Amino acid sequence: MLVQQILKSKGYEGVFTIKPGTLTSDAAKLLTEKKIGGLVVSRDGKSVDGILSERDIVRTLAARGGTCLTETIDGIMTENPVCCARSDRSDAVLTRMTEGRFRHMPVVEDGVLVGIVTIGDVVKARLQELSMEKDALQGMIMGH
Ligand code: AMP
Repeated sequence: MLVQQILKSKGYEGVFTIKPGTLTSDAAKLLTEKKIGGLVVSRDGKSVDGILSERDIVRTLAARGGTCLTETIDGIMTENPVCCARSDRSDAVLTRMTEGRFRHMPVVEDGVLVGIVTIGDVVKARLQELSMEKDALQGMIMGH
């Protein structure tokens, strides 16, 4: 399955982004309100300047305490995150996420943010694919 199909099956709702310079406390609120685990950091909603995961906030809280909540996300986010294209295969995306130990991947086309896929989206797509393959093989064996 291609990333394009995953985005389509999710129903396109856009990507939640935050601007560099946002307070960490505001980012934490947005993550909670939207029930998501990661936000793309973008100056204009098009460029991918970074990614902020709930893990970044938890790690910084553990390392530096609650004062980080009144600081900006700029020193916490991951700059230049690994991105994928609509035409990438879901299994290749899953491999990159597993090897890189991250669960979010912005989807970019011509340098512009067009979506985001999570490890949950990719695993769901892969399970569907495997189930369809199993049904097709069973059909062939049973002679349907
Ligand atoms: P995650 O598992 O996606 O919540 O994030 C784990 C760590 O990887 C955090 O430090 C994130 O900022 C970072 N991260 C998340 N997504 C990406 C990505 N696509 N490329 C590089 N780093 C990422």
